Amino acid sequence: MSKKAPPKKEDKPAAAPKEEAKPAAAAEAVPKPQKAEKAKHEKKHREEKGVHAMYKVEDSKVSRARPTCERCGAGYFMADHHDRYTCGHCGFTRYKQK
Ligand SMILES: [Zn+2]
Repeated sequence: MSKKAPPKKEDKPAAAPKEEAKPAAAAEAVPKPQKAEKAKHEKKHREEKGVHAMYKVEDSKVSRARPTCERCGAGYFMADHHDRYTCGHCGFTRYKQK
């Protein structure tokens, strides 16, 4: 590698040749194209959220996808965790049986 920058390029000011090993030419001439590194967010497909996700309609029949709270009664769905159902209203938890 030559220490002197080649004076062939005219796009640099005269003061440039003073800098030696620095790759100033690359830094100055080409302002790094900032690659927008998109964070790899692998979204796991989770269940849909919202009340509509609690119901499934088949042939004008409505079925509920979650159990309802025993304490609060119908209309209070329990959250579906991996090992338990929980009522967000009263805190009632029922563990899933295996
Ligand atoms: Zn409840």
